[in-house]
Amino acid sequence: MASKRNWNVKSVLDWTTKYLSKISKSPRTDAEILLGYAMKKDRLWLYVNYDLELSSDILDKYREVVKLRYNGMPIQYITGEKTFMALNFKLNDKVLVPRPETEELVERLLMDARANGWKKFLDVGTGSGVIAVSIAKYIPNAEVWAIDVTEDALKLTLENAKRNGVSERVHVHKGHLELENLDVVISNPPYLTEDEWEKLEELHGEPVEALVGGKDGNGVYEEIIHRYSPKRFYFEIAHPFRSSLKRLFDENNLRYEIFKDLSNRDRIAIVWREDGTSTFG
Ligand code: GLN
Repeated sequence: MASKRNWNVKSVLDWTTKYLSKISKSPRTDAEILLGYAMKKDRLWLYVNYDLELSSDILDKYREVVKLRYNGMPIQYITGEKTFMALNFKLNDKVLVPRPETEELVERLLMDARANGWKKFLDVGTGSGVIAVSIAKYIPNAEVWAIDVTEDALKLTLENAKRNGVSERVHVHKGHLELENLDVVISNPPYLTEDEWEKLEELHGEPVEALVGGKDGNGVYEEIIHRYSPKRFYFEIAHPFRSSLKRLFDENNLRYEIFKDLSNRDRIAIVWREDGTSTFG
């Protein structure tokens, strides 16, 4: 961005859109979010102030964040927040950026939980806590345990539970827990294989521990099904539904149903034990 010329909202957005198109699939949106962030205004405000000239203070701040984005930092790490299930969450680069597909997993769970009166939940690999906090927020009286391997994630989950007024019903814990009579264990575990991760360069700005689930991508599913016996497991899964994951379910006498996301990709596995000891209802 040349510093001599005068920049207004529109010209700076146009310039940045072109610049960020080299690294982002949504350069215009990115530019708008970053400028809004630098100016402490929302995107709608930008649209009605296209001709406004930008001060050098704002431009300095804006250049800084555009550079971070250009170097691969996800937009939500820069702004430090993310909306999930219409709730506001604090975010940092120690955890995965929550995805819209995960909202679909949570929506399905909420629907089933209401129909069945489920109240006791465990979220494995909670990260920023989006799943756990959403459950506590949308199911009154739900008790939710949120576990993770990193302290950073648990700290953030607790902050997010407080931010959304549910910290009394979201219990964070480092590592696995002994819990009985769970209705549901839900997880969006790290599920990529090492090879898949290697090729997905756009994910390299996020923590690898949140993305790769062992060599075959199934490591965390395996741990979960061996440790817990809820009525149901709700898992986010990779597309297409892997034969190795199917084998894991089959070998453990688990029944399952696979659901697609809005992009028609395999995304959700609802899983339960065949012997009926801990099945539905
Ligand atoms: N549970 C968090 C989410 O869905 C984190 C998931 C993860 O780190 N794999 O966003």
